[in-house]
Amino acid sequence: MLLERCTWQEVERYLEQSRGILLPIGSTEQHGPNGLIGTDALCAELIARGVGEATGAMVAPTLNFGMAQHHMAFCGTMTLRPQTLLAVLVDLLGALARHGFERCLVINGHGGNMATIFAAFSELHAAASLAPEPRPASLRCRLRNWWSPPAVAAVQKELFGERDGSHATASEISVTQYALPECIKRAPLDPPQAPASTGFTDAADFRRRYPDGRIGSDPSLATPAHGERLYRAALDALAEDYRNFLVEP
Ligand SMILES: [Zn+2]
Repeated sequence: MLLERCTWQEVERYLEQSRGILLPIGSTEQHGPNGLIGTDALCAELIARGVGEATGAMVAPTLNFGMAQHHMAFCGTMTLRPQTLLAVLVDLLGALARHGFERCLVINGHGGNMATIFAAFSELHAAASLAPEPRPASLRCRLRNWWSPPAVAAVQKELFGERDGSHATASEISVTQYALPECIKRAPLDPPQAPASTGFTDAADFRRRYPDGRIGSDPSLATPAHGERLYRAALDALAEDYRNFLVEP
């Protein structure tokens, strides 16, 4: 059930039978020579919608922007500062809480969002902890990166080994190729496997270390069929995770 395609009465009725919701979050950032700018948001949205269909969960609109300052030396990247993303998340999660949602599983497509997402959860809990009596219960939130469940990591390892890399990965590009076969890009990759991660600071530093935008990856290995396997593994793992989350004390 997609929130943006419901009426307010439908959301009210949904809340009579469930208090859970999924929030996909991605980023709008470069993904190397053959990766789409929207990769992180596309992966998070596809998987969150699959989990929503499998579990009957409400799915909030995808937050397409994330904390991508380190990708700003590549054209097309659009970033939010950490403090902006923090404020956006606190407002949006607070809005869901106000309507009566009690559990929100945030399905994330971009590692660079994690620190800020956790900070937003802490802000929500702090607001409840510091409120005068009667204190409201705070929305319980959980962050899951779509690639983190062990079953997904096992498929990644089997398909790509260490050539998956850590940015513009063969895995995420496979998932977008599965989702949008009409948008598959072919481009020379030189070297075939990008330099391994040595950390980074700002956008200029990132570009100096990783000139074509990839980190450690060989996304020439990406295929739609691999993407489908990864999608199904992520969907199954996160659907189980969501069902457990709903009934946890
Ligand atoms: Zn990505």
